[in-house]
Amino acid sequence: MIPPSHPRYRSLMKREHLAHCAKNGIVSLEGLTAHGRGEAFDYLIGERTMDSALLAERTSAALLLSARQPVISVNGNTAALAAPQIAALQKACGAKVEVNLFHWTPSRVLAIEDLLRNAGSQVFSGTYEQLLPLPHDRAWCRRDGMYSADVVLVPLEDGDRCGALAEMGKTVIAIDLNPLSRTARTANLTIVDELTRALPQITRACTELTQSERDHLITSLDNHYLLTEAIREMTMRLSHALD
Ligand code: ATP
Repeated sequence: MIPPSHPRYRSLMKREHLAHCAKNGIVSLEGLTAHGRGEAFDYLIGERTMDSALLAERTSAALLLSARQPVISVNGNTAALAAPQIAALQKACGAKVEVNLFHWTPSRVLAIEDLLRNAGSQVFSGTYEQLLPLPHDRAWCRRDGMYSADVVLVPLEDGDRCGALAEMGKTVIAIDLNPLSRTARTANLTIVDELTRALPQITRACTELTQSERDHLITSLDNHYLLTEAIREMTMRLSHALD
């Protein structure tokens, strides 16, 4: 039992939950180590949403709302940490929710789809084909889902898949606490924030933005600026860490 008064309560509860989800097959063991990398970066940014991330989250809402066929791609960690927040975002922006896994097995896909449905998402499922320009399992996706999407939100994606989607001409929005990762640098828009903080901010922006605000956010999108700002905010915090 972790007492709620513990200063790291939220973080410890997340770890315990992810460990449980690893035991029942939702989260891969590799997913646990990816979470650890994310936690380290979250420590560096002070476990809060930075100004640059908020701008990225609002821009992300604008892109999702303006898309012809937006898709939210969900992996094991995302489903385990944020299934209700995915459902809320789907309601706000009308995107398809599709399971896409790095460590792909049919039974894992079905288990994650069930988890998402139970949390309120309408999950886009059906036949998988090897359609992405990548070797082996990572090429799997659905023709009427991610393959046909114009805008794809990929929380916690790996660099290769992110690059493949961008090469296919899609607008790729990544959520990644590491502003230096290949994913962060390959995506068209990178949100350097923790998943469970980022998703509600995008959802809120979906309900708030006017058409002219959306247009302005999209035309002024500059991912290099957003990443540079994220690193600057991180560095500022680090340089005063022991004050
Ligand atoms: P890349 O292939 O993009 O260079 P990587 O090898 O780190 O990066 P993964 O191992 O797939 O890619 O790691 C996933 C990324 O997700 C990590 O960079 C980590 O910082 C990030 N991450 C993990 N958990 C969270 C979370 N809860 N919220 C936001 N980002 C997270």
